[in-house]
Amino acid sequence: MQSASLFERASAVTPGGVNSPVRAFRAVGGVPRFMTSGDGCHITDVDGNTYLDLVCSWGPMLLGHAHPEVIAAVQAAVSRGTSYGTPTQTEVELGEEIVARTPVDKVRLVSSGTEATMSALRLARGATGRDKIVKFAGCYHGHVDALLAQAGSGVITLGIPGTPGVTEATTADTIVLPYNDQAAVSAAFAQYGDLIAAVITEASPGNMGVVPPADNFNAFLAKTCTDNGALFISDEVMTGFRITKSGWYGVDGVQPDLMTFGKVMGGGFPAAAFGGRADIMSQLAPEGSVYQAGTLSGNPIATMAGLTTLRLATDDVYAKLDETSLTIQRLVATALEKEGVPHVIQAAGNLFSVFFVDSTEGSGVIRDFAGAGAQVLPRFAAFFHAMLDAGVYLPPSAFEAWFVSAAIDDDALADLESALVPAARAAA
Ligand code: PLP
Repeated sequence: MQSASLFERASAVTPGGVNSPVRAFRAVGGVPRFMTSGDGCHITDVDGNTYLDLVCSWGPMLLGHAHPEVIAAVQAAVSRGTSYGTPTQTEVELGEEIVARTPVDKVRLVSSGTEATMSALRLARGATGRDKIVKFAGCYHGHVDALLAQAGSGVITLGIPGTPGVTEATTADTIVLPYNDQAAVSAAFAQYGDLIAAVITEASPGNMGVVPPADNFNAFLAKTCTDNGALFISDEVMTGFRITKSGWYGVDGVQPDLMTFGKVMGGGFPAAAFGGRADIMSQLAPEGSVYQAGTLSGNPIATMAGLTTLRLATDDVYAKLDETSLTIQRLVATALEKEGVPHVIQAAGNLFSVFFVDSTEGSGVIRDFAGAGAQVLPRFAAFFHAMLDAGVYLPPSAFEAWFVSAAIDDDALADLESALVPAARAAA
C-alpha cells in the first residue's frame, strides 16, 4: 500500500505524518489515504482507489474537484504571474462579491480562517478598548492562541482541553461558556459586561459536529452585545457561501458587527476574509491604527479561484446542495435504522453530522459540547472504515460536519446507498 509507505516517510519528517492533525486518522485508526487527484465528487489515492468525497477539503470544494471553469480561470491567472504584493483587480472583484452577498460593508482579505478570526478579535479589542472575549465550548475558530480553549474540530478529536504552548496569560481574557446557554451569557455579562470586547461564535457550529443555534441564540447574542457595548462576531468560515449564497446569515438574518469567512471563498486555495461595519473596519491600518497585514493576502491565484467559484455558486447550486444533503441524510438514517444503530442526524442547511449516540431516549437533540461528546466513538470508527473500504471518504472524526458538493450525481448516490449497507452493519 503506497499510502502506508508515504505515511511512514511523512512521519519521519512531519509530526504525526500530517500537516493538520485530523488528517492523521488518530480517532479512527488506520493509515490516512494520500490523495493524488480529484474529479467532480470523487478523489483518488496513490494506490488508485477512488472515493466519493464527503469531506470536500473540509468545506472549500463546493462545486466539486477540478471544476473546468475554476481550473481554466486559475490556469489563465497563473500564466500571467503568481504574486505581485500589490493591489489587483481580482481582489477588488472578490471583495465586491463578498460585500454583495453578505451584510458586511467592508472586507479585508487574508490567507486562512485562523488569520481571519485572529484579526477580527484584534480589531474588536482595538475598536472597543476592552480586553475580554467570550467564546463557546466546542466552537473552533482556528488555532488562534486566545481561542484554543475548549475548542472543537481536531482539538476535541484528540481530546485536548487547551493546548500546551498557549500561556495562561493569553487565555486569561477568554471567557468560555456552554453553547446555546443564554443564562450563562447573561451571567458573564452581569459580571464582566464593561470589560467584554466581543462575543465570537460559529454562526452555526460545525466543529463539534453540527449543533445549530437554538431558540434564536444568535439574535440573543447580538442584542446582548449591543446592549453592553460589545461586538458580535459571527464566524462563517465553515458556513459562509456554503449554506446559502451568504452563509448562515441567509438563514437567520442576524446582523453581526464583524464576520469571518474562509474555505469556499478560496475555491480550494488559501484565501479567507474578515469584514463588518464600515465604522469598525475603518479602524484598520492604514485608515486607522489597528495593524493587520499579509505578504500573500489577496493573492491573485487564490482570489481568482474564489471569485470564479462564487460566481458559479448560483441559487440553483444551493438548491441542488440542499437536495443532495437531504437525500444523503435520508439514506444514512434508513441504513442505520435498519441495523438498529442509535443515531442523531443534525443539519444546518446542507451541512450535517451523524452522531453515534448510545441511545436516542430523551430529547434526541444535541445542543452543546457535552451532548456532542456523549457519542459511542468505536461505533463511528467501525462505520468510517467500512465506508472507506466501500469507497466513501468521510471526515475521520465523529466531531466533524459532512460536506456535500454540487458534483454529486445520482450514480454517486447509488454508490453511497450500497456502501451504507456494510457500514451500518459494522456500526451495529
Ligand atoms: N473558523 C471555523 C468555523 C472553522 O471551521 C475553521 C476551520 O475549520 C477556522 C475558523 C480556521 O480556518 P483555517 O483552518 O483556514 O485556519
